[in-house]
Amino acid sequence: MEIETNIPKRILMGPGPSNANPRVLNAMSRPLIGHLDPEFLKIMDQTKEMLRTLFKTKNEMTFPISAPASAAMECCIVNLLEPGDTALICVNGVFGQRMCENVERCGAKLIRVDAPWGQPIDPELVETELIENKPKLVCIVHAETSTGLRQPLEEIGKLAKDYDALFLVDAVTSLAGIDVQMDNWKIDAIYSGTQKCLSAPPGLSPVSFSENALQKIRNRQSKVQSWFLDINLLDSYWSGEKRAYHHTAPVSSIFALHEALKIVLEEGLENRFKRHQQNHELLKEGLEKLGFEFVVDEAHRLPQLNAVKIPAGVDDAKVRSQLLNEFNIEIGAGLGEFAGKVWRIGLMGESSQPEYINQLLEALKKLIK
Ligand SMILES: *Cc1c(COP(=O)(O)O)cnc(C)c1O
Repeated sequence: MEIETNIPKRILMGPGPSNANPRVLNAMSRPLIGHLDPEFLKIMDQTKEMLRTLFKTKNEMTFPISAPASAAMECCIVNLLEPGDTALICVNGVFGQRMCENVERCGAKLIRVDAPWGQPIDPELVETELIENKPKLVCIVHAETSTGLRQPLEEIGKLAKDYDALFLVDAVTSLAGIDVQMDNWKIDAIYSGTQKCLSAPPGLSPVSFSENALQKIRNRQSKVQSWFLDINLLDSYWSGEKRAYHHTAPVSSIFALHEALKIVLEEGLENRFKRHQQNHELLKEGLEKLGFEFVVDEAHRLPQLNAVKIPAGVDDAKVRSQLLNEFNIEIGAGLGEFAGKVWRIGLMGESSQPEYINQLLEALKKLIK
């Protein structure tokens, strides 16, 4: 049997992964060293420090989980909740729903605040539930990748604080694409992913926990039900003098993340946010000329995830497969209740480039006429 690997060069304009900078891919081909090698411990410390800068936090406990972002979501929820606790989840898309799944599996009581898909959560509804149900934890998605909605966080963060609840934020698609201010917005726990606006390969997911969150975790009555995701055990590998073995960290992936973070900081966060916004506007102009309509109103649109309605008469699957096979461009299908109705065009990190946008617009012009 002949085994071939022939991987085409795609332009990744879906909901992630985004394209990786060649420097990031090269970092993965550095010599393999041990996960407790002093040279690797330096890389770990620098990675933590750079992540703090991106999250805009001083939290000591800030590091990447060795697993995709769904595991980081689960990590935050299983550490912060014990059986019998109450959690309030804001739901207006797929990822809010996924948080609910996690809460139920922890044996916690779930309170939902819903908004229609593509619309922001109303802080007043959150306040009502905070008064009535006194949840221990409030969870929300900052950048809902299933709809392209940018959720304002400050007001809800302040409410959570006022009613003595912990505040957990999903920043998987927001980090390094739009501003995230963990400390200023009173966020107690946050998680992200590497394959969206950080433009590193998928498979790692940064998290950060506030002192307030850690105190609650240390005072738990019961053990965290996941051994692998127990923050106290993970911390003994990622922090301190001892650096105890917990699991064999994905060394090459961490090299890649480390390089990707360096690239983000070389560009500068503010410049990076501006670039995402400008490229979004370029795409928006072109798409509107072709007759596309956005799902989300202008005030709440994410620059890095453009959800547009598929025009009547256009064959969803056929056009996406032509884009991929004839033009090497990947865009995202609709998820959940938007399946078959919406396309999701990602402009994340390295994929947010005017030349890619022009190529996509030219291709769409030919394909949908
Ligand atoms: C992509 C994404 C996730 C899940 O990330 P995986 O790496 O696929 O597990 C969670 N939340 C949001 C908002 C996302 O966009």
